[in-house]
Parts: sequence; structure tokens; C-alpha cells
Amino acid sequence: MTGDDSDFWKKARISVCWESAPASQQMERAWVKDAIEQTWQKYSNLSFTGWRRCTSKGANIRIKVKDIGAKVIRFGDNIDNVRDGMFLNFTFKRWATFCSQYGESYREGCIRANAVHEFGHALGFSHEHNRVEGLPSFCDQETQGTSGGYYITPYDLASVMNYCRTAIKPDGTQERQYIDWQLSALDIIGVQKVYGRADGSWIPRGGSWYVSSGGTEPLSILNFSGRSALGLGDFNGDGYSDVFHANGQRWDVSYGGRTRWKRLKGSKIKISSLRFGDFNGDKKTDVLRSNGTHWYVSWGGKSKWKKIRKSALEAKQLQIADFNGDGKDDVFYANGNIFVD
Ligand SMILES: [Zn+2]
Repeated sequence: MTGDDSDFWKKARISVCWESAPASQQMERAWVKDAIEQTWQKYSNLSFTGWRRCTSKGANIRIKVKDIGAKVIRFGDNIDNVRDGMFLNFTFKRWATFCSQYGESYREGCIRANAVHEFGHALGFSHEHNRVEGLPSFCDQETQGTSGGYYITPYDLASVMNYCRTAIKPDGTQERQYIDWQLSALDIIGVQKVYGRADGSWIPRGGSWYVSSGGTEPLSILNFSGRSALGLGDFNGDGYSDVFHANGQRWDVSYGGRTRWKRLKGSKIKISSLRFGDFNGDKKTDVLRSNGTHWYVSWGGKSKWKKIRKSALEAKQLQIADFNGDGKDDVFYANGNIFVD
């Protein structure tokens, strides 16, 4: 997901109205309302209200139904109460005509998918495919709006804001995905980062941890946190790596990198003075520090400090690995070959 801070709405309740609301389009209007409620509204703190015919008072988002390309005339809250701020197409006789050629449920899918996409723009999200170059022709469309802004999530091929999201057409050929209107996993994270979660809790903006599985898969979000001075280890020995943070008062662990911070131990020692390894081979990561005369270890990061060796080397001079393959980590030091004492 991509967007620009200046375009995002500064409120969570957004009113919607129809510039005209003939009875003959009641069903289509209900599809649009339902699609928005099942996507942007369901997964975020946003609520969309009204959905009646526009009065002289207007609304935040004013929808005009017309047989032209679905679009918003500006991004995000720049369409606030602008007449015909969003165009949606219900009939597809002149534009995207295939949407009216595969039956009613296909037309419904087109209407829902267009609505979710255009509401994405109305929320300030720009085209995800603007982020990349050299796209196949079926999705390398005119760029709409800014490609700038900031990247709210990693690049997302499955985003409702991405023209390159593809599907197999009924005739077997590949085409842009026109009728899948559900948000992708990263769309959900993106809207939550910008507008908050459905329960009103807030995801801190800008701070996330990412993991590329095996180093070959795309980065995916592991968790949200502004904390970045972190250690890694398996502190409970369950085989999953945990994320460690020292805040100057205590040590915290997020188990598997997925849980909330849980207190491991009270300690004022900061991460720059610590090293991590399994020094006793019990499969739990231990914490090592030096006070300039000795090395100490806290078993599993929980026990009191235990003096393990006399050494003037500081923790930051050391690296940890298992050099003899006995399942216990060893301490490595390189002196740069400048002098030997
Ligand atoms: Zn668009």
C-alpha cells in the first residue's frame, strides 16, 4: 500500500451520498455499500455513514453513477464534499463492457471491485503498481495520481490498488483481476496503519518488522513496533526465534516476534553491551555481558548474572557462534592483527 500523509482523512467517520438514487439501481447501491462495509470498514476504525441521496448539505464522498470509467477526481480528503467526487459504473455498456457480458454475478463482482478500488483512492491510497517499472502491458496503465507518498507496506501484487493483480478469464486467458473485491492481507495492514484497527487500537505508523522467509521470499510483515535496537534469540527454547529489546530499565521479549512485549528480566544494561548465544546447550538463548574484568551470563536471559570467565574484552568486541559443533555457543574475538598482548 502506498499513500501520502497529506491526503489521508483526519477522522474516522466518513459520510457517503449518491448524487442520484433511482429505485432501479437500489440493488447496485446495496452491493457497493456492502462491499465497502466488508472491506475498508470491517478491517479498520473507519465507518462509512449515510449512503442516501445527496442533499444540499452534501457528504464527504459524493458518488455519481455514470457509464464511464470508475474514478475519483482527487485523492483522499481532497474530494471532501466535492460534487461528483467519485464516479462508479453500474451498467458497463460503454466502459469495461466485458463486465456486462459474463452474467449478473460477474457484473456484481465488477461493481464491488470497482467500488473497493475507488474507495481506496478516496481514502488516499494510490496505485500500487506505480511503484514498479517494466510491467506487462495489461497492467502498465497510465499512472493515476502521485506515485509518491510513502510505502505503507512492502510492494503488494495482491492489493486491490494494484492493476497487476491478475486472474484467469472465463476464456482461459490471463487478465487484470476485475471482480475479486476482497482486501489483501497487506491492504488490511495498510488501512490499519493509516486509520487504526477496527477495535480502535492503533498501529504505530512507520515501525514494522519484516521477514523474508529463507531470504528468498518477499518481505512480509512480522509485527508492528517502533523499536529497532533489537536482539534475536530463542529465549524460551520452543524453536522459534524471539525478538529482544532492552529499554534501560528491563529486558522485554516478543515471542516469535509476534506477541506483545513480555518482561524477561529487570536490567539497566543496554543492548549494545550484550551478546546472545546458547552457552550451556539447553536450547535457550543466554545473555552475555562483560564488566571489563569478567564475562557474565544470564541463563535464558532470566537468571542472575553468573561469572563465567576472567577477561578484559568487552561484549561489543565479541561475536558468538558454535565453533566446535558441540551444540554450545562459543565466544569469538578478532584483534585485527594490530598487536598481540
Ligand atoms: Zn485506480
